[in-house]
Amino acid sequence: MKAKERLAIPRVKMPSLAGDYRNKNNEEVNLGLSAEDALRESHRCLDCVNPTCMEGCPVSIHIPTFIKNVERGDIMGAARVIRETSSLPSVCGRVCPQEKQCERTCFYTVKLKKDPVAIGYLERYVADYERKELGKHPEAETRKPESNGVKIAVVGSGPAGLSFAGDMAKYGYEVTVFEALHSLGGVLRYGIPEFRLPNDVVDFEIDRLKALGITFETNCIVGKTVSYEELQEEGFKGIFVGSGAGLPKFMGIPGENLVGVMSSNEYLTRVNLMGAFDPNSETPVSRGKSVAVVGGGNTAMDSVRTALRLGAERAMIVYRRSEEEMPARIEEVHHAKEEGVEFMTLHNPVEYLSDGKGSVTAMRLQRMELGEPDASGRRRSVPIPGDIVEVPVDEVIVSVGVSPNPLIPRTFKGLEVTDRGTIVVTESNQSQLPDVFAGGDIVRGGATVILAMGDGRKAAQGMHEYLSARSKV
Ligand code: FAD
Ligand code: SF4
Repeated sequence: MKAKERLAIPRVKMPSLAGDYRNKNNEEVNLGLSAEDALRESHRCLDCVNPTCMEGCPVSIHIPTFIKNVERGDIMGAARVIRETSSLPSVCGRVCPQEKQCERTCFYTVKLKKDPVAIGYLERYVADYERKELGKHPEAETRKPESNGVKIAVVGSGPAGLSFAGDMAKYGYEVTVFEALHSLGGVLRYGIPEFRLPNDVVDFEIDRLKALGITFETNCIVGKTVSYEELQEEGFKGIFVGSGAGLPKFMGIPGENLVGVMSSNEYLTRVNLMGAFDPNSETPVSRGKSVAVVGGGNTAMDSVRTALRLGAERAMIVYRRSEEEMPARIEEVHHAKEEGVEFMTLHNPVEYLSDGKGSVTAMRLQRMELGEPDASGRRRSVPIPGDIVEVPVDEVIVSVGVSPNPLIPRTFKGLEVTDRGTIVVTESNQSQLPDVFAGGDIVRGGATVILAMGDGRKAAQGMHEYLSARSKV
């Protein structure tokens, strides 16, 4: 096909369930591309000599090669290309903010100022095809590497830990992942709801890692159940810390301790991991009729959309800047609007009010306007003096950021930690303790799945080089 013909093809659209149907259930919103749509989209890729899309991918997937495989109809071949560098393709194809990564640096975006190739949709198409083909045998395409007998421990089974574990297992190490919770996957399991990332997708990716010989131990809190020193005594020659940032932040305003005000971490964990959506569960969650979610990130969008699914009649996003500054993926904002979420941008809560019996009944919001850009490059929001509105609510979910989980930084003596509680690492993700590497949110603060996976890959390479050099001494 000539380049001119490729350039004339419009970008594919992702089919999805109707907003007023899906906002009442947990079914996956995006339906995935059909074979015809995927083929047409693959024709758009120009197979650039210098594929700039790859520069935008933190795990360096060979994007043009996998897309060429799709174009040839060799979808399993495409899957093999993606798996060379990514341990979680069906996850990334669903939740990566591609518009800020590979699709931002695609030739179409950079040079032609046109819609980029839908790299994320194609990645999901390939991964879903592979999952269907392999069915109940996720191990079918996996060759278990020969063991080198060296034991490695991983703290946390989120994307950073899983990506690290996968690469280390491929090098031949005997990897054990220790997970504090009873379920594997980190935020992929307890944070991101099923309507965006179904559990069977996460299960499939973890089963593929198990097929590489990785062992998983749940209900094991490193730093409590087992210490750093005990891991060393048990013969673990390297430890990767991917313990994430699960500590919720609050705003410190009056009324935050009222009944009905909670963090999005608590809300989503209770719903996604503890079955709280079932009113008969042992840990039900309150189901507000008028729910405000404070924040503009993915976590806020997931919370507000979950509130709708739990029966809220009015679900609102309250965000202090404008929609343009929202850190959430564009698709999540768009989907939230389609489902009926109200957006109160340029509003900031200053107080929650109660009925006198301890439950929240209203919030007082300060109206804001945009000022100069701050250190993050986003325009600062500035209060408009005296402009305060009161809005009735019976539930508030606070989603204004997270801090790193503090247990490892506190208990691994000798780790260098920043004043934000993140672990300090070198270029190869090695910490101050030479046998300890770290990556993902515990190093970056709250970031993204693919950045966590990229850290896991870099740390695996770094630890492999470190241990190989030591064994030669
Ligand atoms: P985590 O995923 O947090 O995993 C850390 C794991 O370590 C957890 O399972 C935890 O239980 C375990 N752990 C902690 N301490 C210990 C210990 N002492 N011993 C043993 N185990 C321990 N990013 C995107 O790219 N796209 C999105 O759409 C997106 N949506 C999100 C939605 C929500 C609701 C949230 C909360 C985050 C979202 N993110 C999204 C961000 C993304 O999920 C995180 O950046 C990513 O999961 C970080 O990976 P991680 O492996 O560093 O940590
Ligand atoms: Fe294809 Fe865009 Fe990558 Fe070029 S930059 S190879 S067009 S996906």
